[in-house]
Amino acid sequence: MQHRIVVLGAGYAGASAAGYLARQLHPDDFEITVVNAEPDFVERLRLHQLAAGRELRHRPLAEVFAGTGIRLRVARVADIDPVHRTVTVVDTAGTDRIDFDTLLYTLGSSADQSVPGVADHAFHVAARPSAVRLRARLDALAEGGNVLVVGGNLTAIETATEIAEAHPRLGVALATGGELGGWLGPQARRHLLRAFDRFDITVHEHTPIGRVEPSTAIGTDGTVLAADATVWAAGFAVAPIAADAGLAVEADGRIRVDRQMRSVSHPGVYVAGDSVFVLGENGHPLPMSCASAGFTGMQATATIIGDLTGRKIKSTALSYVGNHISLGRKDAIFQLVDGDARAKSGALRGRPAALVKSAIVATSGWAISHPTFGKPSHRYRAAGSRDGSTEVVAG
Ligand SMILES: Cc1cc2nc3c(=O)[nH]c(=O)nc-3n(C[C@H](O)[C@H](O)[C@H](O)COP(=O)(O)OP(=O)(O)OC[C@H]3O[C@@H](n4cnc5c(N)ncnc54)[C@H](O)[C@@H]3O)c2cc1C
Repeated sequence: MQHRIVVLGAGYAGASAAGYLARQLHPDDFEITVVNAEPDFVERLRLHQLAAGRELRHRPLAEVFAGTGIRLRVARVADIDPVHRTVTVVDTAGTDRIDFDTLLYTLGSSADQSVPGVADHAFHVAARPSAVRLRARLDALAEGGNVLVVGGNLTAIETATEIAEAHPRLGVALATGGELGGWLGPQARRHLLRAFDRFDITVHEHTPIGRVEPSTAIGTDGTVLAADATVWAAGFAVAPIAADAGLAVEADGRIRVDRQMRSVSHPGVYVAGDSVFVLGENGHPLPMSCASAGFTGMQATATIIGDLTGRKIKSTALSYVGNHISLGRKDAIFQLVDGDARAKSGALRGRPAALVKSAIVATSGWAISHPTFGKPSHRYRAAGSRDGSTEVVAG
């Protein structure tokens, strides 16, 4: 009987991990199923562009996985029973159960909507449906309409600049609890502030928002900011599915794993991408990012292959090298960080940084569309049960 590997989520971590597993594992021994809520691969890195009016390439997962042997199930994961090794999924036909022997959990994250009024009155760009709704809202706003982006980190900066560039007829503002780009090095911060000036984006620093209403956002100090559209970009949060399933999680719901991405509480469950909590090489938790999804996905697949075939497990470096922030279509900042995750003083800025960022985003999309990178080798056969004392090698 084939060993059933079920991958939950086909985002940056899950789609590439499934492709890699399909490339390496022998189909006589392993069956790989991917469950994803949407029929397409959604390029989250571009969702602020989608919201601002740009068309995204259509990447149906059925085409992405065609010829790989991967079974695709378009359905929403409702819950997991890691003890009896089943996943409950819901689709238009109803509720179904999928059994697994090995689970790779890569359900990513969405916008943190814990602040009152956000879920009801704000938009976000962390998932496609909300980005599409925001796009329609921006198109419908009259000249001089107010858009307020809440947040001071990467997604907020990218979203505010993208909207300001695409909709110069709208008034764009950003509210942040700290200083705009306060974590950047001096060169990068100067560049960021100049870009905000150029786009005429109003910045409200030291203004944490505590409530969102239909046409205002209210600061915790009582400041009232008018907004025809409030865009919540103040952090990502993970779904409670893992916590509800009894998996060991951090306070924020991210799943706790060992260095090889195995759940610390449930054997046979592996995690990668935004859903995982793991320390990077610098001793700090890896940030939720596409780069982290790549590293944790590579480590998880290496571990799964090692655990299931008896091969030595390669250790993937869990690095955090910096942030690449787009400022509209033609400008960007690439801020490198040091070994302690602090911004270095210099940064790549302007058009060269924008070209590099655009190449990285395009390459990520291409890689997902070619999950097995050509003909699968299918060289690894199942090794039968293991005692868990897997040797780890650096590589
Ligand atoms: C606008 C924006 C810009 C960004 N820019 C950058 C950037 O420049 N650089 C960078 O490193 N990171 C960036 N990020 C962060 C990056 O997108 C995430 O860190 C990355 O997508 C995480 O990958 P993942 O595979 O864990 O999750 P995702 O890519 O979100 O994939 C999760 C998948 O699981 C599916 N899913 C979720 N819940 C369910 C369910 N219940 N049932 C079934 N399927 C489900 C989703 O449909 C999705 O396909 C950006 C994010 C946003 C929103």
